[in-house]
Amino acid sequence: MNRELFVIFGDPVSHSKSPVMHNMAFKRVGYPGCYGRYRLEDGSKLRDMFFKLELRGCNITVPHKEYAYKACDKLDSFAKRVGAVNTIIYKENQLQGYNTDAPGFLKVLKTMLPNGGKILFIVAGGTAQSTSVILRESGYEVEILNRSEGRLKQFIENGFECYTYDSFNGDGYDIVVNMTSAGLKDNSLPAPKEILNRALSKAIGVIDVVYGSNTPFLEFAKTKGLKTKDGSDMLLYQGVLAFNYFTNEKYDLKDIEYAMRYGLSL
Ligand code: NDP
Repeated sequence: MNRELFVIFGDPVSHSKSPVMHNMAFKRVGYPGCYGRYRLEDGSKLRDMFFKLELRGCNITVPHKEYAYKACDKLDSFAKRVGAVNTIIYKENQLQGYNTDAPGFLKVLKTMLPNGGKILFIVAGGTAQSTSVILRESGYEVEILNRSEGRLKQFIENGFECYTYDSFNGDGYDIVVNMTSAGLKDNSLPAPKEILNRALSKAIGVIDVVYGSNTPFLEFAKTKGLKTKDGSDMLLYQGVLAFNYFTNEKYDLKDIEYAMRYGLSL
C-alpha cells in the first residue's frame, strides 16, 4: 500500500508531539498516512524540501511560519489576511496554505470564556498576529503587552491597544495569555510581577501556550486562585483541524480528537 507522507518542519523540532498525534489519528480512521519530523534550519528551503520529500502535507512550527506563507501557491482567506501558515497540503498541483493555530486557540478560549470578554496577550509574535485577529472577529476585545516596542507596530496598525512594560496601564482583563516562550526552558515570568498583578486583578483565568510543563506563569496564577490552562489543548485542536485538511475533511472531528488526545498522553 502506498502511504502518504507528512512532516512537521521546525527548528528545533525534536520535542514536537505532532507526529505521535497524527499517527494515532491515521491509525484510528484507517488512513494510509505516515507523519514524521524534519529539522529545517533555513526556512527559505521549505518549498524545495516539501517536493524533495514528496510530501502530501506538512505542519510548520517556530520559526518558519512566515516562510511557509511565502511557500504557498494558494492561501485560505484567513491565512492570507493574517500572513501566517502552519498547515500546507499538496492539492491540484499546488501548495495550499492554512492557519489552524488561531481557530485552535479560539476553541480553547471558548471553554473558559464562551461569550466574549477582554483578553490581554503578553507577546507580539507571529502566533499572536493570527490569534488576535480571530478573537476580535469572534467578539473578544484584545489588548497586547510586549517587552519591547518593535513588533508592536503591526498590531497598532491593525487597531489593537498596545503597551510595553513602561506604558502599561490596562485593566479589567477576563483572561491573560502568555504567548511567549518565557518559562519554557528557564524559570522566568513573561512580565514583571507588578505588571502581572495589575493585569490579573479582575481575571478569572490564564492560558499559557507552552505545553507539557507547569510554567512559572501558571504557578503564579494558581497562587491567586485563578483557572489555568497550558498549551496542550491548543496543540490538540490545531492538530485536529490540520488533520481534517490533510484527509480532505472526510472523518469525524470527534474521532480525530479522541485519537490525538491519546497520542498526546503517551
Ligand atoms: P515569535 O518568535 O514570533 O514571538 C516571540 C514573542 O515572544 C515576541 O513578542 C518576543 O518579544 C516575546 N518573548 C520571547 N521571549 C520572551 C521572554 N523571555 N519574556 C518576554 N517576552 C518574550 O514566536 P511565536 O509567536 O511563533 O510563538 C510563541 C510561542 O507560542 C512559542 O513558545 C510557541 O512554541 C508557542 N506556540 C504554541 C502552540 C501550541 O499549540 N501550544 C501553537 C503555536 C505557538 P520581543 O518582540 O521583545 O522579542
